[in-house]
Amino acid sequence: MSYLSIVGTPIGNLEDITLRALKTLGSADIILCEDTRMTKKLLAKHLISRPTLSYHAHSALSRVDEIIRLLREGKNLALVSDAGTPGISDPGADLVARVREALAEEIRTGEVKIESVPGPSALTTALSIAGVPCADFTFLGFLPHKKGRETLFREIAASERTIVFYESPHRIEKTLQSLKEHLVAGARKVTICRELTKIFEEVVSGTPEEVALHFQNHQDTVRGEFVVIVS
Ligand code: SAM
Repeated sequence: MSYLSIVGTPIGNLEDITLRALKTLGSADIILCEDTRMTKKLLAKHLISRPTLSYHAHSALSRVDEIIRLLREGKNLALVSDAGTPGISDPGADLVARVREALAEEIRTGEVKIESVPGPSALTTALSIAGVPCADFTFLGFLPHKKGRETLFREIAASERTIVFYESPHRIEKTLQSLKEHLVAGARKVTICRELTKIFEEVVSGTPEEVALHFQNHQDTVRGEFVVIVS
């Protein structure tokens, strides 16, 4: 029997890792990493030394075939992404889909098991500290850069649900401007969760105008990683 373990890893603070994740990584035959250099820092911090193999958005199909072959041979593989839960806005979902398809019979008979070893995600971490209604929310991942972007802002403005998406430091101010343009004044609150679990963790919330002005006035904080919530 072989395992493909989908292992959640920290989104900043390297101590945010479960006992089970450490055990799984420490006993994997191979750790599949989005970026091996990044994961090696985490492994070193926890004194884990296991072979690694890269799997990222641009991996060739031959890498997928190799992974499928390793699982067929009975190897235990652990998949991690650069941060958080593999598959949430990163290449993990694609690999899991391919393995499920290629090894459908082995999964059915129990020879291969895809197991979850859950951990943090920027999505749930942001919602947990934002103080916004989140019994019901829509997650958009990363917004498209061009095609469909304007339509999406119109949909966000029209939605009655809490909306969550990821944004990069290069686009956050542009995104805040778009929210300012599209959201009806007074109807929605914008919350920015930045650098979660890291030294400069910050939550900024208010009207789209207030939040845009905040970052305009604090340019030194237009860096790091961002989760945007519209509630
Ligand atoms: N799989 C990850 C997860 O479970 O959250 C997300 C991967 S996605 C490629 C990376 C994006 O997640 C970043 O651009 C940022 O928007 C968000 N993110 C990751 N870590 C974060 C952090 N510490 N603080 C705020 N946002 C973060």
